[in-house]
Amino acid sequence: MATQKMLKFVSTPREMPEKRSAAERSEDFHEIYREFARAKAAEQASRCSQCGVPYCQSHCPLHNNIPDWLRLTAEGRLYEAWQVSQATSTLPEICGRICPQDRLCEGNCVIEQSGHGTVTIGAIEKYINDVAWEEGWITAVQPGQERAESIGIIGAGPGGLSAAHMLRARGFQVTVYDRYDRAGGLMTYGIPGFKLEKDVVLRRNQWLADSGVEFVLNCAVGEDISFDAIRGKHDAVLIATGVYKTRDLDIDNADAGGVVRAIDYLTASNKVDFGDEVPDFADGELDAKGKRVVVIGGGDTAMDCVRTAIRQGALSVKCLYRRDRANMPGSQREVQNAEEEGVEFVWMSAPGKFIGHVTGDFAASQEADVDGPVRTVSQIASVSIQKMRLGAPDVTGRQAPELIEGADYDEPADLVIKALGFEPEDLPRLWGVEGLEVTRWGTIKANFQTHQTSLPGVFAVGDIVRGASLVVWAIRDGREAAESIAGYLTGEARIAAE
Ligand code: FAD
Ligand code: SF4
Ligand code: SF4
Repeated sequence: MATQKMLKFVSTPREMPEKRSAAERSEDFHEIYREFARAKAAEQASRCSQCGVPYCQSHCPLHNNIPDWLRLTAEGRLYEAWQVSQATSTLPEICGRICPQDRLCEGNCVIEQSGHGTVTIGAIEKYINDVAWEEGWITAVQPGQERAESIGIIGAGPGGLSAAHMLRARGFQVTVYDRYDRAGGLMTYGIPGFKLEKDVVLRRNQWLADSGVEFVLNCAVGEDISFDAIRGKHDAVLIATGVYKTRDLDIDNADAGGVVRAIDYLTASNKVDFGDEVPDFADGELDAKGKRVVVIGGGDTAMDCVRTAIRQGALSVKCLYRRDRANMPGSQREVQNAEEEGVEFVWMSAPGKFIGHVTGDFAASQEADVDGPVRTVSQIASVSIQKMRLGAPDVTGRQAPELIEGADYDEPADLVIKALGFEPEDLPRLWGVEGLEVTRWGTIKANFQTHQTSLPGVFAVGDIVRGASLVVWAIRDGREAAESIAGYLTGEARIAAE
């Protein structure tokens, strides 16, 4: 009986693939987990109890058929396991690496709930799909029939790429526009290599190109080409531009030299990892080497910044967060990895002000311009830190941080990285588009199921609709939107334009 190989969770302890030592991995930007060996993947998959109502599956945004591919892996039937895995996911090797599994599939595994330790679903998903690539099972999409209709997709992140894949598979002509020089969105330029090696993303990009998806890179819509021109060229348009406006701090010296945005810092680091020339890194501005680094924020972006700074050779790395460990939004797994690598977390702390020291430019400006205005050029020297405590829960049940008067102190810093979250840019204004409705948060208003916006034939997915979210949700949106667009173009489904 098939399930004889399963239900081993009582006798077999949970194991993740081997993690490289903190000392070794802190020296490079390679992924920190090694691959499962075939026998280990089968052993770990066999821990699954094949639940009749699999909570892992219902808490996976893609509703991946997890119990089936675990059973097939346990039985050594990897080709079939891969077929089941890729049937519901466009980028399974990427989700297996970077989904916050502790909050999604694994966090809801019944074995985890019963205290035996979750089935290592993400690591097995990664394993199955890495084997598929190695074995050459993943070949270019060959649509059964070519169609004349074309779709313009703005944004080559996971939302746009997932839609491109599904539409191309149906034979549509797909063009993806992106302002960056490489496709992949935040998978390429946001998320560091130690979580997601860049070859894994570039391989997918190439596969899409081999499948007939056209990429128009270095092309910023609204600057290099107008949104109306894209609408004029294509029968339908998908907006998948993500969110990039950084939330800021309203404190003294907020613009001091050495205070940088997380997205600029991480993008520069990823570009250097590709071997690109990055002037702001070469001149030291976005390089943490030898510096006392303070990162502000408690989300996954902050975790990526602190761990990048360690790898760049920072003198010290501190992470300020205004709540405690239990109440931080970032993944606990990532906090543990960061601590192992030498990051110090300063919980219940917020920046009160930045203290700068005047640089040489100040003296120069005085000499050159004796009677003119004095230029106050300052470089970060320290962060004045305010200590907090958790107060009464607010309406959402979350305890709000409150200031502890008189407990401030100064923390010396040479580089401060702001990782306070992202907001949408004002696309209707930037692109000069009338009638493209947005929500009060500035995200694009789109129908939850069809992803149609207020403009006929224009759809939107991913972070630009949800606000800053996850790769797996962008993939789901992209897949759903592809279905709607196909219906819209072929008349197979009637989609309301409102
Ligand atoms: P994006 O990935 O942002 O892609 C949007 C694309 O649109 C970009 O390539 C951009 O260049 C392009 N674009 C924007 N404007 C224009 C324009 N005007 N013209 C042309 N092109 C344009 N999620 C996880 O699940 N796991 C993680 O570990 C994780 N880590 C993260 C780490 C960081 C540092 C950040 C910032 C995010 C992380 N996320 C993570 C979130 C995840 O990356 C996003 O939710 C996801 O990438 C959103 O996908 P998207 O397709 O909507 O947008
Ligand atoms: Fe888990 Fe993410 Fe894979 Fe779904 S896509 S099974 S949530 S790792
Ligand atoms: Fe297997 Fe856990 Fe999913 Fe149940 S919840 S099917 S034990 S992985």
